[in-house]
Amino acid sequence: MSDDIERLKAERNQIAAEIRRLQYSIRSKVETDLEEGDPALYEREKNLALLRNLQRELEAVEYALSLAERGVYGICENCGERIDPARLKAIPQATLCLKCKTELERKRRI
Ligand SMILES: [Zn+2]
Repeated sequence: MSDDIERLKAERNQIAAEIRRLQYSIRSKVETDLEEGDPALYEREKNLALLRNLQRELEAVEYALSLAERGVYGICENCGERIDPARLKAIPQATLCLKCKTELERKRRI
């Protein structure tokens, strides 16, 4: 169980470092005036989108970490079954088993 916490903390640190790096790069580009059509402008948009994704990911990892600290990490929030360890390895912040996740996504599409 403490292995999960260590893994999630490492994941969190990695995402946080990436966020800091992006924020720095975005800030330094904001200071220079960019013309319409400048490739740097496109780059900034791309970085902002990436930053938003990373922030969402960080929240998900923080949440998974809070579950791990309560000893309920790796249990599907929908059906209560254990989530496949291979899945958790690939997506440490997963809170649904593959079956529930797939079902949920199918429902969303309808
Ligand atoms: Zn499930």
